[in-house]
Amino acid sequence: MKRLLSLVAALGLSVGLASNALAAYPDKPITIVVPFAAGGPTDKVARDLGEVLRKGLNNQSVIIENVGGAGGTLGAAKVAKAAPDGYTLLLHHIGMATAPALYRKMPYNVMSDFEFLGMVNEVPMTLVGRTTLPANNFAELRKWIDANKGKINLANAGLGAASHLCGLLFQQSVAVDMTTVPYKGTGPAMTDLIGGQVDLMCDQTTNTTAQIEGGKIKAFAVSTAKPLTTPALAKLPTLDSQGLKGFNVSIWHGLYAPKGTPKAVLDQVNAALRTALRDPEFVKRQQDLGAVVVTDERLSPAEHRKFVEAEINKWGPVIKAAGQYAD
Ligand code: ASP
Repeated sequence: MKRLLSLVAALGLSVGLASNALAAYPDKPITIVVPFAAGGPTDKVARDLGEVLRKGLNNQSVIIENVGGAGGTLGAAKVAKAAPDGYTLLLHHIGMATAPALYRKMPYNVMSDFEFLGMVNEVPMTLVGRTTLPANNFAELRKWIDANKGKINLANAGLGAASHLCGLLFQQSVAVDMTTVPYKGTGPAMTDLIGGQVDLMCDQTTNTTAQIEGGKIKAFAVSTAKPLTTPALAKLPTLDSQGLKGFNVSIWHGLYAPKGTPKAVLDQVNAALRTALRDPEFVKRQQDLGAVVVTDERLSPAEHRKFVEAEINKWGPVIKAAGQYAD
């Protein structure tokens, strides 16, 4: 009997410890892996989000770790293999859904190696170029492209990145092949575009708006079906209105955890995400950069999962038709 009682006591103690450990989550800094280099648009969203997310996570620091390369697949692979304890999360964009069609061998399975925590925002893209380009609007750019076939280069953040997808569709739409120059993220690509080392890039407004406003790059068009309302970008035509019918690319971001992260932790991060995305300063900062924070329904893990699956099915055939693969 005595032995039984001490066994119960020991069990009770360990159950108590386990629930205390969970209740204490998080009791140390949380890392959000950004699968692109620092200084780019995904990095920007993550850093802004990290500041507000911590409020719902016992005010623990949120550390951003940039793991760029291979269009976002290296960073995502790192999180897929990380301990499922809520201390390593991933902020990724549309590349989560486009990479599987672009790589013959993927280091993870998007639908089965991650927990879905909720979507964050939608961000348009802009077609931008170096200031030394002779073209000053899209019609002039189109003529310049036709006159310089075989000589044009287009920066991107690697196979599977949003800039790659947008650039691929753009080349297909104007029927001109360009030399793609891959970077670990569009942060460093932007430095080279400003420096005039590359000609063109398609990138999120969260990275391009300030550079366009500052006159450091030229902007030619937006990637969305409708023109934007952000003051700095409102005059830009859509690619669709410039003859590239049906061109419509919008970049979304979502938050993920490694598969197997405890439900209580997932619920807590999801709650922190919901609070963070309703923070007026965060919403305003996003709006100023052309981004739109998602509605409540899209913040549910189930909706996030459903959306990513639909995006994989939507982009797979488009990418396969464009025919660019990597091993
Ligand atoms: N904008 C990049 C892309 O092409 C990623 C980044 O650097 O945030 O996907």
